[in-house]
Amino acid sequence: MNGNAGRDKKIIALVSGGIDDSYLSPLVQSFIDKCAEFNYHVMWFRSLANELHDTPYDRGEVNIYNLINFDRIDALVITAMFMKSEDVMVRLIVKAKEKNIPIVILDGENDAAYNISLEYQNAFEKIVRHVIEKHGAKKLKFFGGSKGNEESDEREAVFRRVMAEYGLPVAEDDVDYAYFWWSSASEAVQKHYDKFGTMPDAFICANDSMAIGVAFKLAELGFEIPKDVIVTGIDGIAEANTFFPSITTIMCDYVGAGKVAALRLNDIFEGRIPPVGNEIVEGSVLFRESCGCEPINRSATDNMLKHELYNQIDLWNGFSDSIITASEQVTGSFSFDETLEKVKLFLKDLWTRECWVCICDDFIARSDDETVDHYESCRSEGYSQIIRYVIHGVNDKDFDFCEPFDSEEMLPDFENVFERNGNVMFLPLHFQERCIGYIGMEFNLTGRNFHILYSLVTNICNALENARIQHEMRMVMDRLEDMYIKDSMTRLYNRRGFYRFAPEIFEKCAAENVEFMVLSVDLDGLKGINDTYGHQEGDNAITTVARALEEVSGGKEIAARFGGDEYIVAGMCSSSGYADDFIKKFEDYLKSYNERSDKPYYVEASCGVVKGVPAAGETIDHFIKQSDELMYIQKSSRRKYRGYCRRKDRDGGEQGSNAQ
Ligand code: GH3
Ligand code: MG
Repeated sequence: MNGNAGRDKKIIALVSGGIDDSYLSPLVQSFIDKCAEFNYHVMWFRSLANELHDTPYDRGEVNIYNLINFDRIDALVITAMFMKSEDVMVRLIVKAKEKNIPIVILDGENDAAYNISLEYQNAFEKIVRHVIEKHGAKKLKFFGGSKGNEESDEREAVFRRVMAEYGLPVAEDDVDYAYFWWSSASEAVQKHYDKFGTMPDAFICANDSMAIGVAFKLAELGFEIPKDVIVTGIDGIAEANTFFPSITTIMCDYVGAGKVAALRLNDIFEGRIPPVGNEIVEGSVLFRESCGCEPINRSATDNMLKHELYNQIDLWNGFSDSIITASEQVTGSFSFDETLEKVKLFLKDLWTRECWVCICDDFIARSDDETVDHYESCRSEGYSQIIRYVIHGVNDKDFDFCEPFDSEEMLPDFENVFERNGNVMFLPLHFQERCIGYIGMEFNLTGRNFHILYSLVTNICNALENARIQHEMRMVMDRLEDMYIKDSMTRLYNRRGFYRFAPEIFEKCAAENVEFMVLSVDLDGLKGINDTYGHQEGDNAITTVARALEEVSGGKEIAARFGGDEYIVAGMCSSSGYADDFIKKFEDYLKSYNERSDKPYYVEASCGVVKGVPAAGETIDHFIKQSDELMYIQKSSRRKYRGYCRRKDRDGGEQGSNAQ
């Protein structure tokens, strides 16, 4: 068998889709109950989508199945009726087959699997016979869904066959169609009454919704159920039970199917049956008030129903309060980290023993790496190798971040997860098809409402996506801001950056009576470097002077590139020789560069410096004007080099010329 054969506790992956609780929950409950008897743990991979439309949302949901690490599971159970996607099912089957682990399919069929089908054809036959034999109905009317619908046609055929067996005629008007919908069924009953003025003994409906529509209309027309007319349905929806009178119906045996799935897995593991085969779990008839099998005594049941209903309303009210509080808090978060903190508020309402919120490494850009287009990059399939952000909660309260882990592990500390928890459910976290990560949570189904759970999870997704957008917008804004105030080549401030920050120093000097200094710098002979060695070398000279200014200022002064090869530095003189010292260090830097570099030219610059306590009415520009003038004086003293660069290979570097 597979690589897990030696493990004493088996782990079963159960996959399902759709949000419908009323059938799925009883099935899963009976499955996990039976599994617990065999000491099997269940990992339930649950998507909300039926994957019928293959929308971006559906793709985001279905991605949860890609989380399954088939090396870590001992069997795969597929609830095909809750997935309704052959494609997804086949993909899972292929993976399970590769690992040679048993596959059980509920209500679907595949040669590689043990198939358990849920049927209620026999139960439908039983209900028709029951109405005739037990309640003596002779005139029966069948309401199908619509002509041509496979299920409806099958039921119609059974109806006609059973009627024929009892020698009861089926006139043309004894079969009608009502589109599986209660209001159409009500209309059909009215039409029948308008035409005949009487009612049949029984309406046999092709689903519960139609049976309820029929019952409504009968009551309106003054007929009593079941005294005057019997009504039956199919499907066993919750309302068929709470309706007055409760509707006699038939239902797939979801509870039985869940149990059989666990039993057969046990048989397969123990070698009692082969891992492939077919089995039918028959549906059952629920005999209730609408056929006359249960006495109509509503007061006790009505009270209980009311009580249950009010409990539900209470639960929903409490829940929507906490959703609103949590949403408000999350909306007020301005960073991703803050949002993660707030997500914990939602987790408190998961009512679970242990849970993990696992967020992919690549969901949010962690660096301002400009080469990655985070807007375009969107993971829609699978999960990142590293799960970076992990919130772990125990008992509704102790939420903590834990270390990143490998997504192949599915959960941190996977080996020990099932020591603490019976079963774990996995729900996808995504925004449309953008994968965020997933939630893993210990689960038991008692008192759980999955619509509430999904509302919580959707809120978590929206909060995280919102945080991602904010984070990335901020990164782009920072980048734009940087471009706005910095020179892209030298990374020094540009003129705008200079005038944003220098005034603060200027004003501080004025206020504290300290000398302000401005240094003007202009490269010597840049044109010569450009002309002789190319623009790239000219750029190198420009950047070298920028590095020199940056290094000497050490972040204390505002150093800016004002134009092509002109720089301005502004700062506060913290000592009397500060400005001269600055120039000395700057010249030393260039000297040392020229000695070290293997460039054939010297990088040199002329400087002018002005310092003084800013007087009333004086501005930075006054300082700049003066320092520029001083710089030009120095430049003209080097006039013979103007327009040329000093070359290292000529005259010991003492003379400069680019003239050949
Ligand atoms: P001087 O010694 O008198 O300062 O003369 P110079 O050759 O340095 O020329 P000047 O300062 O009068 O003019 C600067 C020249 O620098 C003009 C332009 O061709 C060149 N330049 C301006 N921006 C850039 C740049 O980004 N890269 C390069 N390679 N050259 C630039
Ligand atoms: Mg110059």
